Parts: sequence; structure tokens; C-alpha cells
Amino acid sequence: MNSYDVAVIGSGPGGYVAAIRCAQLGMKTAIIEKYSTLGGTCLNVGCIPSKALLDSSHHYEDAVKHFEEHGIEIPGDVKVNLEKMIARKQAVVDQTTGGIDFLMKKNNIDVYRGMGSFKDATHIAISGEEATEIEAKNTIIATGSKPSNLPFINIDKERIITSTEALKLKEIPKHLIVIGGGVIGLELGQVYKRLGAEVSVVEFMDRIIPTMDAGLSKELNKVLKKQKFKINASHKVKSVERVGDEVIVKADNKKGEEVEFKGDYCLVSVGRRPYTDGLNAEAAGVKLNERGQVEVNEHLQTSAANIYAIGDVVKGAMLAHKAEEEGVFVAETLAGQKPHIDYNLIPGVVYTWPEVAAVGKTEEQLKEAGVAYKSGQFPMRALGRSRASMDLDGFVKILADKTTDEILGVHMVGARAADMIAEAVVAMEYRASAEDVSRMSHAHPTFTEAIKEAALAATEDRPLHI
Ligand code: FAD
Repeated sequence: MNSYDVAVIGSGPGGYVAAIRCAQLGMKTAIIEKYSTLGGTCLNVGCIPSKALLDSSHHYEDAVKHFEEHGIEIPGDVKVNLEKMIARKQAVVDQTTGGIDFLMKKNNIDVYRGMGSFKDATHIAISGEEATEIEAKNTIIATGSKPSNLPFINIDKERIITSTEALKLKEIPKHLIVIGGGVIGLELGQVYKRLGAEVSVVEFMDRIIPTMDAGLSKELNKVLKKQKFKINASHKVKSVERVGDEVIVKADNKKGEEVEFKGDYCLVSVGRRPYTDGLNAEAAGVKLNERGQVEVNEHLQTSAANIYAIGDVVKGAMLAHKAEEEGVFVAETLAGQKPHIDYNLIPGVVYTWPEVAAVGKTEEQLKEAGVAYKSGQFPMRALGRSRASMDLDGFVKILADKTTDEILGVHMVGARAADMIAEAVVAMEYRASAEDVSRMSHAHPTFTEAIKEAALAATEDRPLHI
């Protein structure tokens, strides 16, 4: 039987990064993956394919709607070849997951393909074509998550679908009903909206992206409405029924009246649930909590001392970069180091266009905690860079402590916000004040000038360009 210092179960961004860091630190490492390709949800059916389709559909929309105003004329009609678009997405996925195979080899990590299942706290059975058993002094559970559902919805994976099927549709929906106005629903909704579908979003809460700052929800809502999204907040879905090729969604609106939506596809994007099926966690003495997450302490250690858990399967934001940080954290803990993660500084991003990005506290959180703060906001439309590319929507908002001026939260909607948020993370990691950021030179013309201007607005309400 092969023996390891560390076995990692699951090869998503949490698992494969943990394995690499363990190997870098000199531990003999194995990784177990039940799917044929490495990379987990993120690389196979999450972050990467969704961004590939967002990029392709963005190009199409530009060609149809914006090329002309740039003085670019295309003779004849611009057409979508969905099959080709999906094939390109798959090629990106294949290349990326193949890259993980390379990284495993490079770091001398043994890859086992099959379902990992605990026999006890130090032995893992691996089922599948090459069934075997390994011994591991320590194990990192990184089994991720699966789409969740409402109890009364029958997801048939044809017309009533999850994000996984939405990434490989064979036709463009005429009317896509999206249940859930969170990140995944809006990103995939925008893909098909750009390709010509009518898109209706049905959201239970009173606003889309309800976990983010209310100002971001409001701005994104405004922009998506301009893009002809139909957004129905405060709607409680009661039933989803398929009749032939039609899907009928019934919901109660704010007034308690029944509303009916008829479409040809319904994307159920109501969140994700931790995945531990088949893991046989009990055999290793690993406890799950009432939400099905693997219970961990502040060291990400489970109820079994030699077993840790990271990523979507434990508490916290379900994000690839959070999973990665946790992977590194556990590897370094196992090596006797004292790593640290500041969960307040894990950025959140929505890759719609304009993009939405945030880090730190929202205004709602600061109010609730009774923190005295000041806010500086700068509109993207006041930037030369925005006018050059015609990306006028959005703003940057910086929240800073009223007394010390320390930045407490940064919230933005706008072109390339997903990349711009990194500046805010760096500033907050070093506990910068709004004035610190406002005094740093930002290249002109760039979208990041909105960060400098918002910092000036937060410091002493003295932005230069409005
Ligand atoms: P996962 O990536 O879910 O990987 C878990 C792996 O474990 C899987 O490969 C699974 O097959 C394997 N596994 C499970 N049980 C076993 C077992 N017993 N034995 C062997 N193998 C097992 N996050 C972002 O940060 N940015 C984004 O842009 C983004 N976009 C997304 C878009 C979509 C459509 C979706 C669905 C998700 C998106 N996410 C995004 C979320 C992101 O994918 C997850 O947060 C991330 O993948 C979690 O990583 P993980 O390592 O915890 O688990």
C-alpha cells in the first residue's frame, strides 16, 4: 500500500493548490479525483468556462451593437455559431485542466483517479477502474460543492437546468427564466441575453446580488434593465413545471399575488451545497454541521486531528481564490508554519459587463456594527478612459473610518472592476488610509483613476474631475 504524508481529496482550486504547496514544502503528496479531468468545479464547469462564454458573447454583442459606432462596418449579418462557441469554451477548459496534470507531474504529486472514501482516519479507499487503497498521515478534504435546488423543482437537465448544463446548451433559448439573481445566474443570464435570448430573473430577496453592498445592486440593476433584462425581485418561486418544450414558473410577488413566467429554458441558480457524498466522513471521525459543511476550527482542522478541510465544503464564501488561500494555509500549517488568512479581504466579483467587485465591509455592515465611516464615490463616466471605450456605467465607492481614514470597504461597478479590485485588496492588506491611495500616482488614462478619485472624495470630499 502506498503511504503519503498528505492525501488531498478533490482537485479543485482548493485541492490542487493545497497539493502543490504541500509538495513544495517537502511532503510526499497524493491527490484523489473522481472526475476524469483535474481542476474541479472551477476549471471544468465554473469560473473558466463561464468566463470563456462571457468573453465570446461579449465579442458578439460588440460586433452587433458597437462596431458601427467605432467606424467598423461588417458586410452582411453577424451570426452566432453556438456550437463553435461552446467548442472554443471546451478547448479552453481542456487546455486549463491539462495544465493541472502538468503541475501535478512537475511537483511529483501522485494522482489517483476515482472516488476517495475514508476507511478510517489514515486510510482512504479509492474506487473506480484502478481501485486501490492508500495510507496518509494527514488528509485534506477539498470535495467542493454541487448546485443546490429548491425541494419542489425537478431539474431535468434539458429544459430545467443548472449552471453545468447552461454551459453547453445546443441552442440559444428564446426566453430563459433565471431563478436566483446571484452571481452565477446573472453571469450566465448575460451570456444568453447577449446572444439574443429574452432573460427574466426571478429573485426571492428584494434585490439582485443581495450579499453585496446595496449601492452595487442598485447600479447593476439599472444597467441590466438598460440591457433589457427583466428583473423580478421579491418574488418567491412556488413551482416550476415543464410542459413539452415550455417551462412554466409560478411565483408570488411582493403583494402576494401569483405571477407566471413562461419560457423555453429555466436556469436554477439558487446557490451551491457542500459536497461530501461517498466520502464516508464518519469512518474517519470527521463531523459535518447541520448545513452539510465539514466542521472546522480556526486552523481548518476537522474533528479528526490529522484531517483538514478547505474550500466550498467548509464555511465561508464559495470562491475559487478563497479555496486556494485555504489550501496554502493548511499546507503551511502542516509544515509547522503559522499562516494567516484575512477573510475580510477576500474580494468578491461578478463578471457581468460592467463588472462588479468589492472587498471589505459594505455600508450595511458598517451601519449595523455602529462604525462611524465616511464615503467617497466617483462615477466612471467622468473618466477619459471610460469615454474612449464607451464604458460609462458604474462607479467606485470607498468607505473609510471617519476618524482614522483607514479604508474599510471598496465597492465598484465598471469596466474591468474585476482586475481593479486588486488595488483595493493591496491597500487594505497594508491598512492604507483613503488619503494614502489618493496620493499615489495612477496611470492616465486608466479606469483605476476612479479609485484615486473616490479616495480623494472619501478623504476630504475633494475629487479633481467632478
Ligand atoms: P471544487 O472546485 O468543487 O472541486 C472539488 C473536486 O472534488 C471536484 O472535482 C470533485 O469531483 C472532487 N470530489 C468530490 N468528492 C470526491 C471524492 N470523494 N473523491 C474524489 N474526488 C472528489 N468562483 C470564483 O472565485 N470566481 C468565479 O468566477 C467563479 N465562477 C463560477 C461559475 C460557475 C458557473 C460556478 C458553478 C462556480 C463558480 N465559482 C467561481 C465558484 C468556484 O467554482 C468554487 O468556489 C470553487 O471551485 C471551489 O473550489 P473547491 O476546491 O473547494 O471545490
